[in-house]
Amino acid sequence: LIYSNRYFALTREELKGQARIQMSAKRFKHVLGVEAAAVRLAEQYGASIEAASIAALCHDMAKEKPDQEMKELIKETGLPSEMIDYGSNIWHGPCAAEIVKREYHLFDEDILNAIRYHTVGRSEMSLLEQVIYVADYIEAGRQFPGVEEARRLADEDLEAAVSFGTQQTLAHLIQTKKKIYPRAVATYNRWVADK
Ligand code: GDP
Ligand code: FE
Ligand code: FE
Ligand code: FE
Repeated sequence: LIYSNRYFALTREELKGQARIQMSAKRFKHVLGVEAAAVRLAEQYGASIEAASIAALCHDMAKEKPDQEMKELIKETGLPSEMIDYGSNIWHGPCAAEIVKREYHLFDEDILNAIRYHTVGRSEMSLLEQVIYVADYIEAGRQFPGVEEARRLADEDLEAAVSFGTQQTLAHLIQTKKKIYPRAVATYNRWVADK
């Protein structure tokens, strides 16, 4: 897989190198797993393989940044300050999108949205956004009850896998009394609730 340079100036090897130095070995392994899963889903469902690879390699770029740094980035870039109350799990996607714009001059909105919304999704999700959301959930290193079912669904029907992942995540958040980000509720209403 060789990048065309249509999205930005880095090669895939350079972008992988950037990811490697931004995170622990364990998280880097997860990122490579997400890339493999995302490329496979992109092939199967007809999304751009290059865009899937780039979004996957970037999606957790902010995950291990200090909270203070992310809070400053939220202020500087005009991200909604309400998200501060919901913790770093909610910030790291939007922050990663701002970082890749600033650091790598990546400005493709579909790729940026796939990075931004990879954790909580949103009501309208492009094919690429769905690919990254599901790939993050099913990559080969993930081990949790239901992951086999999620992988099976992803093989059959991408939208069904988005729905399943959203339902599982929301159920888990409620079970563990976590604060639910309003957009996660919007994702649930669109993708899980009866219409
Ligand atoms: P990761 O970065 O690869 O670990 O995966 P994600 O970015 O998808 O998710 C990070 C964490 O955020 C997971 O533990 C999710 O359960 C959690 N998460 C997802 N939605 C919400 C939410 O609405 N509120 C809170 N508090 N956590 C959430
Ligand atoms: Fe993440
Ligand atoms: Fe996820
Ligand atoms: Fe991830």
